Amino acid sequence: MSRGDMAKPLLGHQSIEGDPSITPAAGRTIGVLGSGDFARSLAIRLVCSGFKVVVGSRNPKRKAGLFPSAAEVTFQAEAVKKTDVIFVAVFREHYSTLCDLADVLAGKILVDVSNNTEINHHKESNAEYLASLFPACTVVKGFNVVSAWTLQSGARDGNKQVLICSNNQEAKRTIAEIAQVMGFTPVDMGCMSSAREIENIPLRLLPAWKIPTFLALGLFLCFFTYNLIRQVIHPYIMEQKKKLYKIPIEVVNTTLPCVSYVMLSLVYLPGVLAACLQLYYGTKYRRFPDWLDQWLQHRKQIGLLSFFCAALHAMYSLCLPMRRSHRYQLIETAVKQAVEKKMNIWVEEEVWRMEIYISVGIIALGLLSLLAITSLPSIANSLNWREFSFIQSTLGFIALVISTLHTLTYGWSRAFDENQYKFYLPPTYTLTLLVPCTVILAKIIFSLPCIHQRLLRIRRGWEKGRYVKFVLPSATGEYSSGETSSNV
Ligand code: NAP
Repeated sequence: MSRGDMAKPLLGHQSIEGDPSITPAAGRTIGVLGSGDFARSLAIRLVCSGFKVVVGSRNPKRKAGLFPSAAEVTFQAEAVKKTDVIFVAVFREHYSTLCDLADVLAGKILVDVSNNTEINHHKESNAEYLASLFPACTVVKGFNVVSAWTLQSGARDGNKQVLICSNNQEAKRTIAEIAQVMGFTPVDMGCMSSAREIENIPLRLLPAWKIPTFLALGLFLCFFTYNLIRQVIHPYIMEQKKKLYKIPIEVVNTTLPCVSYVMLSLVYLPGVLAACLQLYYGTKYRRFPDWLDQWLQHRKQIGLLSFFCAALHAMYSLCLPMRRSHRYQLIETAVKQAVEKKMNIWVEEEVWRMEIYISVGIIALGLLSLLAITSLPSIANSLNWREFSFIQSTLGFIALVISTLHTLTYGWSRAFDENQYKFYLPPTYTLTLLVPCTVILAKIIFSLPCIHQRLLRIRRGWEKGRYVKFVLPSATGEYSSGETSSNV
């Protein structure tokens, strides 16, 4: 989050839902200018919500059949005369063609529902442009984040929020009231200067996922290359063995758990860094650097991507025995043993390693699924803060520890086998252990009573070096005041 963003109040956008001063508006006549997709869906929704609807079209005869019979479809000027609230369901490029209606529109509320094709497409927002064309009208920005489809299907299936802004409180209240009757949740976004931000919202593509996705792709690329060198390139160069067939499944399946495991540790690493900074500065009131702030805010997405990779790894692993290469290898081993007249191939240590490795992996995946499910807003909203923090923080950390056990049982003693160092490159699992083990170690250190207590005090508002007033009795028996450091 940039410093500019931080300057805004976190609870700046208040929901108008449940405001007792808002009274039902059904029965009122609402005007709609335009007869396109949005106008049609809007008219249907308004009629279903009990409003009278009058649609203003340039060609009412041709368009009337597209609207419900309860809606009146007439010429633009006629429609505008019949109501005080008009939704302008027309593209910005055509606003100027409505200028002939300026006189009949004077004093009325115009709702700008328009969107752009690009972020910050125009210098001024569409709503501000509309307001400049019709200075005698009150313009309200709203409903643009709702699609025509959501309008038609009702507020049940889509996002229920309708973001509204205007410089006129009364007009904003009227539109909020209409939105509420239609089954939406009006959200007050403040004055008209917010219109630009509201118009950009439908154009943003998963903004919170950009950094975590690039992070996951970056990690995937690094580990994939590393595994490719070890599993495909090394055998080819050293023994002229063609192992390209390993790329689609084996190399991918050794890469996915690495990404998942490291990503999971990256969910908890910023918390550790934040605690270190708080301990170092001795206060919780000093702002974290922007990069750490950003990182802390993306933990949910990083965690979900970690779960996604872990789920893919589980599916790939289940498919390993299905491969033809696997069958050939099994038969080859069996033939070799028959030739060597080997009867007993049971290696007790290997059997135990595999049993523990798989069991621990399943538990880790189960815990990750729980974390992923509870991060969904509908589930998270049903939990209180303690429950949410227990699942995300405590169970999440346990998932990291269990994933570490999964990795260690997978690697077993390979780190100490010199044959495993291809081109002097250590086995991949040893690299993945680096960040998670650092996080686990830091968490253990933070749980030591002396550090835990200090961190707890800081998080409750205690500050190092803060001066507090004290009062001492003087020799004469009078009390004198002074200041001392609370850093004791
Ligand atoms: P559309 O299907 O193309 O309809 C636009 C309508 O504008 C036409 O049917 C036309 O109705 C009217 N219009 C008035 N003057 C015009 C002129 N000079 N030239 C051309 N048309 C003129 O578009 P839409 O999808 O309904 O979108 C309308 C507005 O809603 C846009 O600003 C859009 O950004 C916004 N919006 C749409 C959606 C959506 O899901 N579609 C969602 C959110 C916001 P008459 O011929 O009857 O006059």
